[in-house]
Amino acid sequence: MNRAPTPLVSLPDPAAARRWCADWRARGRTLGFVPTMGALHDGHLSLVERALDENDAACVSVFVNPLQFNEQRDFERYPRDLGADAQLLEGAGCTMLFTGTLAGFFPGELDARGELLPAAWREPGPSATGLEGDLRPGHFRGVATIVERLFDVVRPDRAYFGHKDFQQTLVVKDLARALGYPAIVVCPTAREASGLARSSRNELLLPADRERAAVLSRALFAARDAWCAGERRPARLSAAMRTVLADGPATLEYAEIRDPERWTRDEPVGPIERAVALVAARLGGVRLIDNLRLDEPA
Ligand code: AMP
Repeated sequence: MNRAPTPLVSLPDPAAARRWCADWRARGRTLGFVPTMGALHDGHLSLVERALDENDAACVSVFVNPLQFNEQRDFERYPRDLGADAQLLEGAGCTMLFTGTLAGFFPGELDARGELLPAAWREPGPSATGLEGDLRPGHFRGVATIVERLFDVVRPDRAYFGHKDFQQTLVVKDLARALGYPAIVVCPTAREASGLARSSRNELLLPADRERAAVLSRALFAARDAWCAGERRPARLSAAMRTVLADGPATLEYAEIRDPERWTRDEPVGPIERAVALVAARLGGVRLIDNLRLDEPA
C-alpha cells in the first residue's frame, strides 16, 4: 500500500519513548510495535506495513542489543546506519522511531563494568533449547531480556516479528504468554529475487557470496518438494536439504526438521504432520539462518 509520507517522530532514548507511547495510549489509540536491530530492509518494512494496517500507529525500535550476541566480533561488525533507517521508516509511514543505549534501557541495573546485574536478566522459556539456543549460548536469554524491556517501554497492543527467525518467534510467544501481553504477530519472510532471505547480515557478504547464499533457500525448497511428494519422515526431509548443501560454498551448522507447534530440542524421529525446515550455515565468515514451513502453501 502507498502511504503519504508523514513526519517521523524520532526519539533518542527509551525514557522519551515511554512518555510518547503512554501519551498515545492515553488518547485511546492502538500501537503496533516492531523491534529491530537496524540496517533496515524490505523484510523489516513489511512488518511496519502490517503494524500500520492493524493499529493506529507503528513504533519501531533500532537497537543493536549487545546482550544477545554470543560473539563479540559479530556485534562489532553488525551493520549500522541510523540515518538510512530513519529515511526508510519515514517513507513507509512509520509513526515513531526510538533508539537507546544499554544504560538507557536498564537505568541503575548495570554494574561498574557496564554489565547487566543478574536480577535484570529474563530467562527464556522452553523453546530456547536446541538449534540456535544450543549453537549460540546465551542468545535467547539476551533476546528475552531486551524484548521484555522493550515491551515495558512501549506497552504495545501488538508486536510484529519475522518468521525468518522462527525459533525467536517461539521464545517471544513464551515471553508474551508469561507477561500476559502483547499479541504476537508473525509475518512472512521477505526474500531477494534469488530466494535468499533478506537479512541485515547480507550486507556483510561479498557480491559473489550473496549469489551463492541462495543455496540455503534452495535446500529448504528441496525439503518442501519432498514434503509435497508425500515424504513425512524428518530424517529424509533433512537429508534432502543436506544433499543440496553438500559440497556447496556454505559451511553447514544444521539442516533439521521440527514440528512447528511442538518444539523439541532434537529432530523428531517418527513421521510428522506439520513441519518446519530450518537451516544455518556460514559463508565468507557470515552466519546466515533461514527456515520454511513445509506444510503450508508456497
Ligand atoms: P533484526 O533487525 O534482524 O533483529 O530483525 C527485526 C525483526 O525483523 C525480527 O522480528 C526479524 O525476524 C524480522 N525480519 C528480519 N528479516 C526478515 C525478513 N527477511 N522477512 C521478514 N521479517 C524479517
